[in-house]
Amino acid sequence: MIFTDDTIAALGFVAALADTVPEASESGADELSTPEQLGAILDAWWYSGRRDGTAVEVVEVAAARDRLRALWQLDRDDAVTEVNAILDEANALPRLVRHDDLDWHVHATSQDAPLSSRILVEAAMAFVDVIRADGMDRLRVCQADDCTGIYADLSKNASRRYCSTRCGNRMAARAHRARAE
Ligand SMILES: [Zn+2]
Ligand SMILES: [Zn+2]
Repeated sequence: MIFTDDTIAALGFVAALADTVPEASESGADELSTPEQLGAILDAWWYSGRRDGTAVEVVEVAAARDRLRALWQLDRDDAVTEVNAILDEANALPRLVRHDDLDWHVHATSQDAPLSSRILVEAAMAFVDVIRADGMDRLRVCQADDCTGIYADLSKNASRRYCSTRCGNRMAARAHRARAE
C-alpha cells in the first residue's frame, strides 16, 4: 500500500467532507448546511473530540472543506506551502495518543481545539504522508462530466477514473447509449 492506514482513513474523511458541495453531492444540494448534517458525517467516520453543534461550527467546517478541496488539486510544491501554512496557523504539535479503542496514532492538535482546526490539521498530516510518498497524483477529481467529486486512487495500477460506482455506472450507460445511437 502506498499510504499508511491512518492516512488512507484521513483522506477518505476529507473526500467525504469535500463531496458535500452541490457540484459533487448525491442530492445536488449543499449537504453541509446544518449541525445535524455535520454530525451525521462525523458519526459515520467515528470522528472524535470536541463538537459544538452550532451554526458557527458548520460555517467554519464548510470553510475548511473548501480549503481542502483546493489543496487536493494543487501540484506537489504548492501543496507543501499550503500544508505548512495550515500546520503553522494551528500551532500544530505532533504527539502520540491512544483513545477510544484506537491504538497509538498521531494527533497534532488537542481534542478540545475547534473542530474546523482539527479537521484541517488532521488532513494536513495526511498530506505530509502523501507528499513524502510523492503521491499527489493519486488525489483525483472524478472524470464524470457532471461531477467534481474527489477521491484517492488507491488501485494498484493507478487507473481509477470515477469517484464512485454511481458515477462509473452512469458514464458507462451514457457511453453505451452514445454507441447505440
Ligand atoms: Zn485519534
Ligand atoms: Zn463522480
